Amino acid sequence: MSAEILTNYINGQWVAAERAGTLPIENPSTGAILGHVPLSTAAETGRAIEAAAAAFPGWSRTPASRRVDPLFALLELLRRHEEDLARSITEENGKSLGDARAEMKRAIENCEVAFGMPVLQQGDKLIGAADGIDGEVLRLPLGVFGMIAPFNFPGMVPFWFFPYALAAGNTYVLKPSEQTPLTLQRITRLLAQAGFPPGVFNLVHGDKTVADALMEHPRVQGVSLVGSTRTCRAVAEKCVRHKKRFQAMGGAKNHLVVMPDARIEEVIRNLLSSCFGCAGQRCMAASAIVAVGRTTYDEVCRRLVEACGQLVVANPLDPAVAENPMVMGPVISARAKRFIHEMIETGVEEGARLALDGRGVQPAGCEGGHFVGPTVFTEVRPGMKIHETEIFGPVVVILEAADFDEAVRILNGHPYGNGASIYTQSGYWARRFKLEVECGMIGVNVGIPAPVAQLPFGGMKASQFSMVKAQGRAVIDFFTERKVITERYWPEGPAR
Ligand code: NAD
Repeated sequence: MSAEILTNYINGQWVAAERAGTLPIENPSTGAILGHVPLSTAAETGRAIEAAAAAFPGWSRTPASRRVDPLFALLELLRRHEEDLARSITEENGKSLGDARAEMKRAIENCEVAFGMPVLQQGDKLIGAADGIDGEVLRLPLGVFGMIAPFNFPGMVPFWFFPYALAAGNTYVLKPSEQTPLTLQRITRLLAQAGFPPGVFNLVHGDKTVADALMEHPRVQGVSLVGSTRTCRAVAEKCVRHKKRFQAMGGAKNHLVVMPDARIEEVIRNLLSSCFGCAGQRCMAASAIVAVGRTTYDEVCRRLVEACGQLVVANPLDPAVAENPMVMGPVISARAKRFIHEMIETGVEEGARLALDGRGVQPAGCEGGHFVGPTVFTEVRPGMKIHETEIFGPVVVILEAADFDEAVRILNGHPYGNGASIYTQSGYWARRFKLEVECGMIGVNVGIPAPVAQLPFGGMKASQFSMVKAQGRAVIDFFTERKVITERYWPEGPAR
């Protein structure tokens, strides 16, 4: 592929950015430069916002049943290009083709849910709220919404939001991650053919400057961010200052609890994909395992380290391994790799046992890539930095708990609260886990409890800075104002 400079999509036109600067887009498996992403200015972002604001009156008045028509067209185009888009994700992000294909499936699934907007957006009516008075709730679109995307799911995460925003009658400005902007550029090429009127959907590439412009512009109603907890805090503060609605979904350290009665064969198979899929760069990656009881702990430590031998660390687009479900690609960048190495060093200094060291794993022919092999720490205690910190790489820490209650204390004492799973055959422990663990998404005997598109997605504690979750029916609250009408009509004729 030629090293193109990406362009913005504003008001139905592809527009070259003003070139305040560019960043290279790297294939993290090889270091090859795939293109350059422009760092657009606040003024360019403003033009996209103005275009979206101008498109809003016409789009919001379009009947809901017709607003979903371009989404149907987009879905057809996505299906036709699904494999190419999955390859694009793998190329710029480094995850396996299997993971990238699953990502595109979830993106498509979100479009399917948004098709239901003519039903989902219906309001409520209370006949007889008082004597002769009726109450009514209307769900109305608000105007321009913006989204700031992370690098790790470039093809899926924006679909948690924009199909719902558009179907509900809003207009949109999307900022891809500057690390993985190619897939969204390609998806926008499909969007441009789907029949949305100009200005309804806009794409602006860039970094924090674009994000700030979205949050500061008076015509923007709300912003959805998915990113690190540090960025969530900055976005939450800025959105409050500028009186914007916001969703800010942040970092994670997801725990899996293994009870003594768990089916250990299945658990280990689950752990491999849950911990090391996407090289640990999922917000729903399992990165801490709590084994209950010494026997379970010893067995999990031994068997997980052994099982890591099945993983194939490689360039996931290498035809020799591309269809191998055990392939694990690189981490996103040299900077991410440096941080992961620093955290491994920290773990050693803190006194945890480095049972498997992924430093130095280097697939042949990928010398320019950013690989870290599977890494496992045992003898980890709560409060160690390697337990507290989101490392966002293929590094797993294993802790021992004496019993169920101690396991729950470890989870609830942790700052993050995105997802958690328990492995047990006991309905009693599973029920208590569901009720007591302070996480937004809970799994029972599943590795990654990432909900399907029909259900809400979101965490608790430092993993989420606002109440409104992503995808499904839940996100419609974010994209609509529930306006409440109280009305009465007097009878015709003279007043009585
Ligand atoms: P990041 O926070 O570095 O960047 C995310 C986006 O925010 C990018 O588009 C970036 O340009 C922008 N940004 C960065 N700093 C900003 C600032 N100060 N103000 C405004 N915008 C800013 O995150 P990332 O490295 O791209 O993604 C990985 C992180 O995202 C991990 O922490 C992961 O757990 C999290 N994540 C969370 C979820 C979830 O559902 N909770 C899902 C996916 C990823």
